[in-house]
Amino acid sequence: MIVEVLAVGTELLLGHTVNTNAATIGSKLADVGLDLQYSSVIGDDHDRMVAALQLAMSRAEAVIVTGGLGPTQDDITREAISAATDRPLRFSDEYAARLQRWWESRGREMPESNLKQAEHPDGAILLDNPKGTAPALQLETGDVVIFALPGVPAELEILLDMYVVPLLAERAGEGVVVSRVIRTYGESESRIGELLADLYVEKSN
Ligand code: ATP
Repeated sequence: MIVEVLAVGTELLLGHTVNTNAATIGSKLADVGLDLQYSSVIGDDHDRMVAALQLAMSRAEAVIVTGGLGPTQDDITREAISAATDRPLRFSDEYAARLQRWWESRGREMPESNLKQAEHPDGAILLDNPKGTAPALQLETGDVVIFALPGVPAELEILLDMYVVPLLAERAGEGVVVSRVIRTYGESESRIGELLADLYVEKSN
């Protein structure tokens, strides 16, 4: 199974935030033998996100998007997935009520803009987020499954463990990615490369 990661956020391009989410996803997928073949960063721009999503859907079987699920105007992952898949946005009354309860339980009034988090592309499943208000999304479109996960690393991690990794591992079947670190000294990098030349012949990545 070919997996692609799209990390969304202009702060990642500016270097204000380090893209640790891509590393977390890559490592958790490798643990269950899944092949992360492409990983990119896109700013908070609707058209570039749609283009990146469409490219990812053309070459991967699973696309994992992180970030852009918050309530502010620059959080446009839902809209971009909706446009890229041609699925109109729907509103979940049930999730809106849940958001309302979450705010009430903290004695605060919910800002109107939070209702955006109850929107989802038609056909998407809302995955409950135990660490935050933004639900994750799972959308099956053709042969591709798209996951949209929050950017906050702690939320991302728990949602990967709860939903994404188990589902992808089950779909991909048995597998394992084996890697080994070999430390050397004395010889130059180019000489070591020549000595290991046969290992490169059948490498897949
Ligand atoms: P929220 O609901 O909190 O707004 P979100 O899904 O909209 O979450 P963002 O607003 O894009 O996500 O990011 C929230 C925070 O998560 C950022 O301030 C940043 O610290 C962190 N973050 C976002 N993307 C990444 C990433 N790829 N790697 C590491 N941290 C990230």
